[in-house]
Amino acid sequence: MPKRVETIVLHDSSTPVLGDTQKGGNVVLTSVDALLNAARSNSLWPLTFGLACCAIEMMSTAASRFDISRFGSEAFRATPRQADVMIIAGRLSKKMAPVLRQIYDQMPEPKWVISMGACASSGGVYNNYAIVQGADQVVPVDVYVPGCPPSPDALIYGVMKLQQKIRGRRVRSVSEIGLSELVFPRKKDSEVVA
Ligand code: SF4
Repeated sequence: MPKRVETIVLHDSSTPVLGDTQKGGNVVLTSVDALLNAARSNSLWPLTFGLACCAIEMMSTAASRFDISRFGSEAFRATPRQADVMIIAGRLSKKMAPVLRQIYDQMPEPKWVISMGACASSGGVYNNYAIVQGADQVVPVDVYVPGCPPSPDALIYGVMKLQQKIRGRRVRSVSEIGLSELVFPRKKDSEVVA
């Protein structure tokens, strides 16, 4: 009588692993959009900088009482090259605006912006010549968090809204997901027909 061999793929139930289909392992099917969006939305790395009093509340989100690491965003990066979300925390002066734009331009795609507080979103009480009357005049803003200052809970809610927005995003091109080499493998020189 033939003996049936079963292979059990060991994995954490919350982390699906592609199994060996030949031996009865587990298989998870999903779209590339869903896979990338899940990864991106759960690992948003904010840029480390603050412009004014709102930044104190932003710092609190990383403390144990609020613990933004529950949403994968505790890794505040000191360089724009490693960050994908900019939190504009505080009033943006006209002198600072070109610097903010330069930092934004140095962040890799895809990237997002959260405007935190009344000052960043609309100038707040600083309706004068020195303050930009809304950060969206300088960079594209994805989420506005109201308040003066917004509480850490409010900022975390803003991060959750940004996560929702990212999960509904569609990948625009094959090159964006870095799989172009897999889908359209480049021919070796020896294979190129002149
Ligand atoms: S919104 Fe309020 S707390 Fe935030 S930077 Fe402006 S004045 Fe300060």
